This record gives sequence, C-alpha cells and structure tokens, in this order.
Amino acid sequence: MKIAGGFGASELFQFLRDGEPRTRAELAQLTGLARSTISLRIDELLEHGLVTPVGEAVSTGGRPPAQIALNPGARVVVAADLGATHGRVAITDLSGTVLRSVFEDLVIDNGPEVVLDWLVLTINRLMVECDRPISDLVAVGIGLPGPVEHESGRPTNPPIMPGWDGYDVPAHMRRTFSVPILVDNDVNIMALGERAMGWPDADNIIFVKVSTGIGLGIIGGGVLQRGAQGIAGDIGHVKIPRGAGVVCKCGNEGCLEAIAGSPAIIADLRGIGRDITTVAELVALVKSGDTSAIQAVRQAGRDIGEVLTVCVSIINPSVITIGGALAQAGEHIIAGVREVVYSRSTPFAAEHLSIVQSRAGEMAGVAGASIMAIERALSPEGIEGIGA
Ligand SMILES: [Zn+2]
Repeated sequence: MKIAGGFGASELFQFLRDGEPRTRAELAQLTGLARSTISLRIDELLEHGLVTPVGEAVSTGGRPPAQIALNPGARVVVAADLGATHGRVAITDLSGTVLRSVFEDLVIDNGPEVVLDWLVLTINRLMVECDRPISDLVAVGIGLPGPVEHESGRPTNPPIMPGWDGYDVPAHMRRTFSVPILVDNDVNIMALGERAMGWPDADNIIFVKVSTGIGLGIIGGGVLQRGAQGIAGDIGHVKIPRGAGVVCKCGNEGCLEAIAGSPAIIADLRGIGRDITTVAELVALVKSGDTSAIQAVRQAGRDIGEVLTVCVSIINPSVITIGGALAQAGEHIIAGVREVVYSRSTPFAAEHLSIVQSRAGEMAGVAGASIMAIERALSPEGIEGIGA
C-alpha cells in the first residue's frame, strides 16, 4: 500500500470495485488513511459517478453511516467474441451485465481490416441503441479464434485467420476508440466467462472448446494460464494414435483436430451419405438420433479424452467443462470424454474431477471478454484514465 500522500482516488477505488457497499469508517480502517482523506477521495469518485451512496449500514446508535459502493452503470465496456464464421458483440456495464448484444455472421478469413471495421460499426450502433455516448466507453475486450500475444494484442501464426498474423488489433481499434483494447484467444476468454458464470469457487478448471478447432482454456490457482507465447492449451495439433496417416491442415499428420474437429466428423458422415455441411447441421443430426452421427461424436469425445488424460495428470483440475459449437450435441461427446479420462486417470484424480457441459454456454466468450475489459478499466491506471 502507498503512503497516504500518494494514495489517490484510483487506489481507494480498488477497495470498492468488488461492488460491496462500505462506510467511510470501514474504508479508513482498510486503508489506514484519515477519515478526512477518505472523504476527499470519495468526493472525487462521486464526481465521476464511479461510486454512489447506497442503503444504510447497521447503526450502532445515532445517525446511520452512509455507505458507498461501485456504481456499475457509470461506464460501459465492449465485449466481442469473434469466431471463424460468427461474431457476438455486447455492451456491458461495470458488473458485466449485458445491456445490448448482437450475434451476426462474419468471415474471419476476410482479414483484419474488414472484420475490425465491421466491429467498429457494430460497437457504434450498439452504443446508440443503449443510448450511451462514446465517452462512456472505458475499455474493449476482444476474443479471436487463434493464438494471440496478449501483451501486444497481436495474433501469432493463427492457422485459420489469413492476413491476421502479427496484425496490430489494438492500434486499428484505437483509430476510433481511444480506450484500452484487450485482445486474447477466444478459448481463454471463454474459460474466464465459464468460471465467472458457472464455477466461481473453483480455482483449477479446464475449459474445452470443441468446434472447428479444439483448444483448452486453463485456469490454474485461480488465474488464467496463457503460457509464455499465449498458446497454452493449444491441443488441436497434438498427435494421437488414431490419427495416424490423416493429414492435418497444419501440414502434419495425426493431429487431434484432423480427426475430432467438426470438419473431420462432417466429412466422415458425408462419406456415408449424410447431407450435412455445418456444425449446426451435425448437432441437429445427433439430436435426431442418427446412430452414425452419435457414434462419430462420441468417438471425437474419446479422442479428446486421450489428450485430456495427460492434461489431468499435469494440472489436476477439479472441473473439466466442455463448450463450443459441438458441445451443443449434448451428452454424447461428454460421455466419450468421460469414458477415456475416468478409466485412464489415477483413481484419486478421477474421484475429485467433474466432467460436464459448459454452464455459460454460448455466452461464455462475451462474459470473459467483458471480465477482461472491466479488469483493465477498473485497475488504478484504468481509473486514472477515466479522470479520477
Ligand atoms: Zn495439425
């Protein structure tokens, strides 16, 4: 903690950002600052609308002390979850509550200029619909379907995103919005959202995204694990025995994605006469009870389970949660994962491990992008940027 002289409103705000109402006396006790200093700092935060007086604390007699709490509606952030073929964009308040959102087709292959210009237009439109001026926007969080160097916000060798390698995503967005722009891999933000919405008390979670690609978002010790280059959890191109001889789009043979990703499953089913081309059609076929489709999806679950068994030994999670478009196929894919992971893991690790469907579902990505943006917006630097 800083000495009193250097303890500004942005530092005091850190004690209020959890949303819990506190009295001036409680804040004085928490910070060690004089009541007069606390009052000055609170006045600054009140002036910017970042905190608001709330309710009445339990009084020990006399006038009840006024409480102060975060004002979640004071500002907004953008949360964007951009996939290979679709994008979901939301405006949320500072508690992560979605004020407005859209889900639209987009083609990530069109390259960063086209896709990010679309994002800018979409953000402007949503802000108008929310009736909020652009000056209320304090941060933008973006998830992309490929590896991202989180520090710089640049994608690094993304296999399905031609033209995006090394592109300065934050710089593009800052041409229009002069606020912090945070960029991460979509699986990472989905893991953040899944934990917040479904497992707030679990500190060791593996989120599995199963769709066109297959990847993990890893939360270890309560913290998102990005790894040295931001590619921790990138298991799609791990070699597995059943893939022997199958060529992957990455150029190698036997990759997990090449046999268990949705394009591989769809191609196999087309080979036996099923007329499907999209993940949604595959999910519908499974739900209709088609035995071949069910078996194919269950086998994909087993293949993913092969790699997850190793991850369980390394990370020792308490929860593995399965999300992504193919997870909509329900229990069949999870059954395949469980079959392999539970039979191959050590009994003690398996006994304390839940393998379940994602609780956040299709909102995991925007929830995580919102958390990432709010985290930055409410940090001492973020609050100083707002002017407090
Ligand atoms: Zn590969």
